[in-house]
Amino acid sequence: MSSLSDLTSPNSPLYQKRKGVYPKAVDGFYRRLKWAIMIVTLAIYYVTPWLRWDRGPYAPNQAVLVDLAHRRFYMFAIEIWPHEFYYVAGMLVMAGIGLFLVTSAVGRAWCGYACPQTVWTDLFQHVERWIDGDRNAQIRLANAPWTAAKTTRRAAKYAIWLLIAIATGGAWIFYFADAPTLLREFVHGDAPSVAYATVGVLTATTFIFGGFMREQVCIYMCPWPRIQTAMLDEKSLIVTYKDWRGEPRTQGLKKAATTDASFDGKLGDCIDCDQCVSVCPTGIDIREGPQIGCITCALCIDACDKVMDQIGRPRGLIDYATLEDAVIEKAGGTAPPVLKTLLRPRTIIYFTIWASIGAAMLFTLGQRTRLDVSAQHDRNPAFVQLSDGEVRNNYTVKIRNMETRPRVVTLAIAGVPGAVAWDEAGSRATAASTMRVRVPADSVTKVRLFVAAPGAGPQRTPLTISATYEATGAGRSEADSVVANFERAKPIEEEEE
Ligand code: SF4
Ligand code: SF4
Repeated sequence: MSSLSDLTSPNSPLYQKRKGVYPKAVDGFYRRLKWAIMIVTLAIYYVTPWLRWDRGPYAPNQAVLVDLAHRRFYMFAIEIWPHEFYYVAGMLVMAGIGLFLVTSAVGRAWCGYACPQTVWTDLFQHVERWIDGDRNAQIRLANAPWTAAKTTRRAAKYAIWLLIAIATGGAWIFYFADAPTLLREFVHGDAPSVAYATVGVLTATTFIFGGFMREQVCIYMCPWPRIQTAMLDEKSLIVTYKDWRGEPRTQGLKKAATTDASFDGKLGDCIDCDQCVSVCPTGIDIREGPQIGCITCALCIDACDKVMDQIGRPRGLIDYATLEDAVIEKAGGTAPPVLKTLLRPRTIIYFTIWASIGAAMLFTLGQRTRLDVSAQHDRNPAFVQLSDGEVRNNYTVKIRNMETRPRVVTLAIAGVPGAVAWDEAGSRATAASTMRVRVPADSVTKVRLFVAAPGAGPQRTPLTISATYEATGAGRSEADSVVANFERAKPIEEEEE
């Protein structure tokens, strides 16, 4: 390790050269858990755009679709309109609180198991092992001169990485358009240029981040480890080397015997085999204590447990433990059960907030109407004095039909005595307090609404404009209304004042 004077010397390099990390294959509970999570997350990512969902003839049949052109977000039975963006905001808030919850309970589990950088790096490392062999073979090949065999292996590995990267970038764009149509257009060169640019950028970042930068993204680029540090407390589970049990290590026995006056000749359980370091995807030694490079993937637990089985010692020399557990165990006590660690006020509060937001969103989603009306009063002029003494106000009314079928709604006015309304297709002669408006499926219809009322009256009267849909035979109705002002000239007596 560099000393401070080395680092501040004018000759010291600005960046430390990356040391190659060649993680060894390992098997065990956590490795299998990682396999399961990797398969599920990759399947969700690649397969989701291809799932279909029947919404009728007027809406897209892709289960999950961010339809930027029509400003809609579809997620199975849920359809979010731009004015309902607070649902998306709610989901983002839930995701944030979910991360707080997971971090305070099980440390950086997100980093170790589900973060895209971890998942794709893991996938790339499996390809690497498949082509180059395990850790030792990879090191040998990395140090070997460039021969035809090495070139062939490298070409094969990069080709597979590139295919994965293209599939990754390609899958992303299918979330933003009908996947089968876009694939056809993409292959024939007819897709929008932004689709090619997006695939290009995501292919490059996946290839570079997953193939070459790997742990450097976690250690140097990602802000999350720094934020997480603030969220961890002494009750958070983190991967811990139990030095009180492992030390002195077998290979450190001689040193301990000569330098440590309190050394009683008793060996720790660690045999200094370095298996925990060999399997680590970020190349760190967990025996040096908690560090930012540890993504809590727990592969070192699997490796060490295997070693403990072989030497006939109890498993768990490296294990998930809290800082509080460490203090208790060091003093010879027994740490509380994991469930007690997980169920504590902080995690319960996070969970309660998270679940409350989720429940509130589900409730409002279930309650929301699929008909919406809004109105804008013309301001210039605010009213027109008609020759017969009546007053006319003009409005632009928007009726939003959020159902995937056309509907005929009743537009009605109320609140201004004697008021009648008509639209551009009608006239004052046919004016009434209600009219029928056909609103196409999944769209907004604009109506220019003219309202006339007797000129005598208050300067400003609230006018309620409502849209009602009655489902024929179903006994079901849906309505929404908005209040706008109906304006007249100031009453004469006010002007005289
Ligand atoms: S795997 Fe276990 S025994 Fe081997 S060096 Fe690591 S902590 Fe020690
Ligand atoms: S130290 Fe252990 S838990 Fe941490 S990143 Fe390395 S293998 Fe994973």
